[in-house]
Formats: sequence, C-alpha cells, structure tokens
Amino acid sequence: MASLDFKDRVAVVTGAGAGLGRSYALLFASRGAKVVVNDLGSGRHGEGQQSAAADSVVAEIRKNGGIAVADYNSVVDGEKVIKTALDNFGRVDIVVNNAGILRDRSFARISDQDWDLIHAVHLKGSFKVTQAAWPIFRKQNYGRIIMTSSNAGIYGNFGQANYSAAKLGLVGLANTLAIEGQKYNIHCNVIVPTAASRLTEDILPPDLFKELKPEYIAPVVAYLCHESCDANGEIIESAIGWVGKLHYIRSQGKLLRTSNSPTFTIEDVQANWSQAMDMSKAKHLDNIQEATAALVDSINNNGSSDSGASGDDSNLFKIDNNKLILYSLAVGATVTKPAHLSYLYENHENFQPAPGFFILPGLMTIMTSSVTADALPHADVSPTNILHGEQYLEVVGKLPTEGQVRTEVSVADVLDKGSGAVVIVDFSTYNGDEVIVKGQMMAFCVGAGNFGGPRNSAKAIAPVPPPKRQPDAVIEEKTSEDAAALYRLCGDLNPLHIDSNIAQMAGYKKPILHGLCTVGYSVRHVLDQYADSDGSLFKSYKVRFSKPVLPGQTLRTLMWREGNRIYFSTQIKETGAEVVTGAYVDLKEVKMTASTKLVSAPSLESDAIFQKIIDGVKEDPAKAKSVNGIFLYEITKDGKKVKEWTLDLKKGEVYEGQPKGGKADTTLTVSDSDMVDIAFGKLQAQAAYMRGKLKIKGNIMLTQKLVPLLKSGPKL
Ligand code: NAD
Repeated sequence: MASLDFKDRVAVVTGAGAGLGRSYALLFASRGAKVVVNDLGSGRHGEGQQSAAADSVVAEIRKNGGIAVADYNSVVDGEKVIKTALDNFGRVDIVVNNAGILRDRSFARISDQDWDLIHAVHLKGSFKVTQAAWPIFRKQNYGRIIMTSSNAGIYGNFGQANYSAAKLGLVGLANTLAIEGQKYNIHCNVIVPTAASRLTEDILPPDLFKELKPEYIAPVVAYLCHESCDANGEIIESAIGWVGKLHYIRSQGKLLRTSNSPTFTIEDVQANWSQAMDMSKAKHLDNIQEATAALVDSINNNGSSDSGASGDDSNLFKIDNNKLILYSLAVGATVTKPAHLSYLYENHENFQPAPGFFILPGLMTIMTSSVTADALPHADVSPTNILHGEQYLEVVGKLPTEGQVRTEVSVADVLDKGSGAVVIVDFSTYNGDEVIVKGQMMAFCVGAGNFGGPRNSAKAIAPVPPPKRQPDAVIEEKTSEDAAALYRLCGDLNPLHIDSNIAQMAGYKKPILHGLCTVGYSVRHVLDQYADSDGSLFKSYKVRFSKPVLPGQTLRTLMWREGNRIYFSTQIKETGAEVVTGAYVDLKEVKMTASTKLVSAPSLESDAIFQKIIDGVKEDPAKAKSVNGIFLYEITKDGKKVKEWTLDLKKGEVYEGQPKGGKADTTLTVSDSDMVDIAFGKLQAQAAYMRGKLKIKGNIMLTQKLVPLLKSGPKL
C-alpha cells in the first residue's frame, strides 16, 4: 500500500492547541503538510486567551522536523486565520474546523450569552474560516474541508441544547458545501468524533476515557483530507480506532390523500400514523432530488386510488366509459374524424376502447409494486434511475368497456448491461378468469449493472428495425399542449408530466409527455392508416423508448407495411429526434379505404422551397392569384412518388397533397433533389424538361406565368 503524504499541501487546523486538533496537526505535519496551528488558547468555556496552546504544538511539530506556524486568532475572525496560511505558506488546501468550547446548561437556564458564544465558535467560526478559504479553493480547483459535529447534535444530549443545535447546524452547512464545491473539486465532510479531551473528561466514564485517544481519530480525518479520497458530503463517525458512516433513512410513509379524496382530517392522520411511521421498508435518500422523487413516487404509489390501484388492491384497475374516452382524447382521438367517434361516444354502435388503453392496468400494477426494485441484485436504486425502456402489449381476449380487471406480474429475467440492469417484467391482465392482455415491460435501472448476470435473455421480446426503404406512409400530428395533463388522469399521476419544478429537477425544460401517450398516438396512427381506425383489428405492439416528447410537439409516425405487421418509428417533427424505435404493430387484418392512402410523406429538402412559396403567396396574394392556375407538383425520391404539393393560385393557397377543389391545370413531376437544384438555379428548368428530369402534363404554357410570381424567391 502506497503511503499517503501531504507534501506541498497547506493544512489549517483550528483549535489545534489541544485535544483532537493537536493530533490532527501532528499527523498532517508528520506526513509533509505545512500546518497552521490555530488556537485562541481559551478555557473550556471560552474564557480567556493565551498563545501557549498553539505555540507548544508548533514547537512539537518543529521538534519532529515538520513545518508549522501558530495562529492565535479566534475562528470568528476566519479571514485572519486564512491570512496566516497565505502569509507564511502562500496557499491553503485543507481546512479542519475543529475549534470548540462547551457551555452546558439545562435548557431552561441557557442564557443568550451561552447560546451566542457556542454558535459563534462552532457554527459561525466554521463558516468564517471556510468562507475565507473558499475562493482560493475554487481558483486552484482543489480543497478539502472538515466540519466537526457531535453525537450530541445528532441524537441530542441533556444539558447541551445550545451545543447540539450548533453541531447539527454544521451538518447542514457541510451538506450544502459538498454540493456547491463538487464541481471545483472541493470536498466537505463531517467528522463525529468521540475522544478523551478536556471537553469530555467529566462526561465520559473514566475507564472508557483512557481508551478514547484523539490519535485514533486523526488518521480518519487525515484520510478524508487526502486528494485520493473522493468522499464528499459524508457524515463519518469515529472513536477508539473504529470508523463508520452515518446517514438518514426515511420510512416509506403513507399518502393521506388520494385523487378521489384530496382533503384529509386529523383523524385520517391518526388512523394512518403507525403505517406512516413503519421503518421496516425505510430507505436512504442521497440528495434532495431523490427525496423529491421519492415523494413523487409515494404520490404515484398511494394516490392512484381512482385507477383502482391502491393499498392491497394495487393489482386491480377499474374501467369505465369515462376513462376509456379520456384515454382516447389524451392520445389525440378527435370528433373531427368521424371514424374516431367510436372511441369517443359511449352510445356509438361500435363504442370501443382504443387498444393502447389496456397497457394501463399492467403498468399501474408494476408502478405501485416494488417488483422492479426487488428484482435488482443491488438494493437502493433510486426511482429516478429506473427508466421505462421497452414495452410489449398483446390483446388475447375480449376487451371490456367497464368493470374491474386484475393484473398478475412476474419477473422474467434480470439482465446485466454493464452500465445498468434490465428487469424484464411479464404481466397478464384478467377480466374474471379470462386473460385479456399480456405484456412485457423492460425497465432499465441506471447504475445497477456489473453484477455478473446474463446480457441477453430468450424470454425478452425484441424490438425489430423497420425495412430499409422509404416509409410506405407517414402521419404527422401535433400533440395537444394538454396531452400529458389529460393522460395523467388515466392513472399515471406522476407530477413529472405536469409540474415544472419537478420536471426541472429531473433535468427537463418542462413537463414531458408520458412515453406511453406517445405510443398511444402512434398506435392510433397505424390503426387510422391500416385498420380504418378499427381497434378490434389490433393484435399487439412492441416499442422501444429513446427520447422524451414535450406536449405540443408534432409527432411523425413513419410506417412500413409487411403483411399484417406494420413497422413504425416515431419522430418529433420540430427536432427530427427519434423517440420510439424498433417498433411494430401486428394487426389481425389490414383494412384500408380509399381515404387511407399516403397521408403525408417525411420531410424532404424541397419542403423548404414550398415553404418559401407559401410565404411569397402570403406576402403578395394578388400577384399569386394573377397566375390563375392550379399546379400539382409530384415530388419523387428513388423513382417513387413521395409527396404531392398543390399550388392553387386561383384561390391563392399552397398546401401538401392533391388539389382540394377542382383539377390541376398542370402537373409537374420532379425529384426532390432536382427541385432544389432548379430552385437555386443550378439546373435550368428548360434543360431539366428537355432531359426528362422535369415532366410536365397539362397546360405547359401556364408554367410560364409562374416565373414573375417566383422571381423574388427561388427560380422554378
Ligand atoms: P479541546 O478543548 O481539547 O480542544 C478545543 C480547542 O479549541 C481548544 O484548544 C481551544 O482553545 C480551542 N478554541 C476554543 N475556542 C476557539 C476559538 N474561538 N478560536 C480558536 N480556537 C478555539 O476539545 P476537543 O475534544 O479536542 O474538541 C475538538 C472538537 O471536537 C470540538 O469542536 C468539539 O466540540 C468536538 N467534539 C469532541 C468530542 C470529543 O469526544 N472530544 C465529541 C464530539 C465533538
């Protein structure tokens, strides 16, 4: 084991004239550090002042060949203490806030002076010394800080109310400095020592007192101050040559309100008290984000009683017309499309659930149980680190429109992916004794990998990439700004989808859409395109989530048909990001009507040209109308027609697709890239026509009239 030294480091140890501080100073100096031995030389209760305490320790260090300088300032003048380090050694790397006094009194007898003096020396002193060193630490991108707390603060101790308060205050101070210093390589930890000193001589039993040598704590503090130690924000307890870590744990608790009953009474608190205080499933939470996430988790676990998932009945899920309609609205079904009425009107002759709805009973059961976390070999995975990776859903029975269904879940496998673990959870949802849907959820648990488990599993239902060709159909649809707000009401109440503060804490600009809401849109697109919006033709889907969607963004579902399987991927139109990949819907049968041909093609380079034309027409509608003709552009890619644009210059309208009213006077067929080249003058329109790159049918002469219109914009 390589020896750890402090060569070239400067350590400031406050209250180093005696007890623990003296031991720290001697050890640092013996390992090469230049040490500032700070000590006011006061009495046990803060009375008086003498330089002898610091001087004797400096002399001891020098006698042993070390380098040290005495500083007699009170820690309350922290900047003076740090100045001593800078004046003598030109730098400072380590601050051990150790100086301390006692003014023990029973609470009723504590005077203002007793209170203020204790807080001045312990809390304010640590603040002042550390704050004076802080800019130096930041500048040199290195610093190690120790705060000294006490079991009296952590547990309380008779007669030490002032001291306990100040000592626990130091834990709070250290917690925040650990966060603020992290990016500057400044670490701040807390030591909770128990050692024989003048502070403890009349507190500790004499036999024990002999054993409690300050020298037993010093190596622990020195290690925490070494550059090789990455501990930060820890509370470390040490005594008699023992060291351990202390951290808070929080009970699972009990949510007292539900979305059915948002208010609660004092009696409700009483009735739930023992369950709320039960520590059997208590967990440590590492930071405020985890604490918030755990709170959010509690809301999800306990607050979804109107989804039928609460308490011991967490695998039950109620279904009624309202919920089915709400889901359909949340995934974009609209009364403006007559075929969607069957999803939205309970008296419709074919009133039906949107099939994507039936993911909810399984999902809510998994979310309200600890099945995923329990399956992990590492305990303590934060809920924020469990991500919904993939989902499979298959309809195997008759889907009810009302009643209560029950879901059974089981862990199929746990995979080791190195950076994380994948828990594969299978579920079956029952209506009475009949299985109506089966599913498989894959949860990716960040940081839970490397446990020596298998990388793959035969039980996993795999995502499949789409065929390597242009999609056969594309549907674009802008999601509602309220999509997540609506979707929540179907059961998944996670505030991440509605509360901006929680979204920001989770690292998003604003609340994100539920991944399964995005899937609900895309599955509906597939049904609109290939099943005449008939949910009963749906058999199954498989999806992999890759990125989140924000409510209000436009989803673009790209579809490829191979028999009864429709491969799809979902993109965000505004950013081009792929959000659902490796996905497919299996249909019982494909049903297409005349109106369900190519709805819209993916974005092309020439789209920008047409956008410019749209802008030009808007700018000068009279000029556009003077052309008085209807033009249909057929845009091709790899010899296939991929998009159509209408320039209806009789009405002054330009839009995607065929002419809405009347017939095109002229039809122009051109490839996407030639269209761009013509627009930018790289290819003459006439030459393109002669070489067969631009085909014109109908009234050729009318195209001449387009020229003045497009003069200011791209040439066509
Ligand atoms: P100690 O009395 O032996 O040492 C404390 C030193 O701090 C003294 O030399 C004193 O002169 C100095 N000091 C007091 N006020 C000062 C000021 N304003 N500026 C500069 N120096 C000042 O006591 P110790 O037991 O070694 O305690 C060290 C630290 O550990 C204290 O913060 C104490 O509260 C804490 N602590 C000790 C124990 C223990 O078991 N000894 C337990 C818990 C916490």
